[in-house]
Amino acid sequence: MSRLLIIGCGGVAGVAIHKCCQNSDVFTEICIASRTKSKCDAIKAKLENTTKTVITTAQVNADSKDELVALINSYKPDAVLNLALPYQDLTIMDACLETKTDYIDTANYEPEDTTDPEWKAVYEKRCKDLGFTAYFDYSWQWAYKEKFEKAGITALLGTGFDPGVTSVFTAYALKHYFDEIHYIDILDCNGGDHGYPFATNFNPEINLREVSANGSYWEDGKWIETKPMEIKRVYNFDGVGEKDMYLLHHEEIESLAKNIPNVKRIRFFMTFGQSYLTHMQCLENVGMLSTEPVMYEGREIVPIQFLKALLPDPASLGPRTKGKTNIGCIFTGVKDGKEKTIYIYNMCDHQECYKEVGSQAVSYTTGVPAMIGASLVLSGQWKKPGVYNVEEFDPDPYMEALNKFGLPWVVDENPVTVE
Ligand code: NDP
Repeated sequence: MSRLLIIGCGGVAGVAIHKCCQNSDVFTEICIASRTKSKCDAIKAKLENTTKTVITTAQVNADSKDELVALINSYKPDAVLNLALPYQDLTIMDACLETKTDYIDTANYEPEDTTDPEWKAVYEKRCKDLGFTAYFDYSWQWAYKEKFEKAGITALLGTGFDPGVTSVFTAYALKHYFDEIHYIDILDCNGGDHGYPFATNFNPEINLREVSANGSYWEDGKWIETKPMEIKRVYNFDGVGEKDMYLLHHEEIESLAKNIPNVKRIRFFMTFGQSYLTHMQCLENVGMLSTEPVMYEGREIVPIQFLKALLPDPASLGPRTKGKTNIGCIFTGVKDGKEKTIYIYNMCDHQECYKEVGSQAVSYTTGVPAMIGASLVLSGQWKKPGVYNVEEFDPDPYMEALNKFGLPWVVDENPVTVE
């Protein structure tokens, strides 16, 4: 019996909302609130006669703490699930603090305006101190720990697939297969084809910022940064086949480095086809990935936001995308004094996802874990005052829920490793 406020109504939220409605015992009532209320009303109309979950909708600008506080005070949710953009993380956390409401999200904070001098000063110091230059990092949200503890509320950070399920796989491997984990390789493969020359599978602005940035990995207690796409490997993925994959910076590396004792190296690889990379390079070379505003015919535009308006809406890729995703982690460590390696992964079929919830697998693999994280906080199983990443909780109920809600996983005890 609980009431959840969901903020955002894009690709990921669409799946999470479907899944909450399949789990009405936990989610008795949900309110879908976003910038564009018509999208919330459309999904409500689609689902309300198929579920016991009572759905309401609202308009909210999640950049405004005051609007969020007013909405939370009027709806009185038990928790807020943030499925808007990383830009809104801190305002939503502030509103949760003010109203003493639990908070859940899928991506760490990143500023919308990277030219903001106040943010830039902190960023530049962090680049120097820690040695990675991604625009996003956990420091902003981890800084809320004490405030959340004092308020007696929980913040669960990063319950998507990666971060999210990959971190839960790590906690599960450590609990059931290893005494110590020394090496983690996170492999994110999308073997899907949507038939467009170029499109991104989730929010283009967030996606392109992430993949055009420098890569980095964690080794022997420090960050090692690489040029974008500098490190390439080839891997043969179950259900997909052989793919090129490239080392990227990714946010769960930061939290796993902090939370997994004795880990020596953590890397993240994502698959990209040559055509995607050529398009991206070209867009970058002409300045279309820039987040800095430029003047155009008397008004300011942000190139990457303009590009977003031109690209296919990720939510529209569902009916066109065929093939599978395969995402998981290869762990090497020791158990009872012996070295061992295991690979835990999930395969997800784009067309199956579309049949079930009307979305492709990238939104599906994020929306399902978002629902699961929210259900564990609401049911009290993952409730503890403070700010936590998913690997800090007991992985077992989460792993069980993945099997139940459409993301079954496999443990391969004799995998091929990545060089
Ligand atoms: P979309 O762009 O499809 O959806 C974002 C939604 O947020 C839209 O409904 C948008 O409204 C709404 N929104 C944006 N700004 C505001 C605002 N100021 N106030 C209220 N609502 C707002 O993104 P996705 O669904 O693809 O991604 C959602 C989140 O999931 C992102 O944070 C993304 O980084 C994260 N993610 C995490 C992954 C993981 O594995 N951990 C993987 C993929 C995504 P409008 O409709 O008006 O534009």
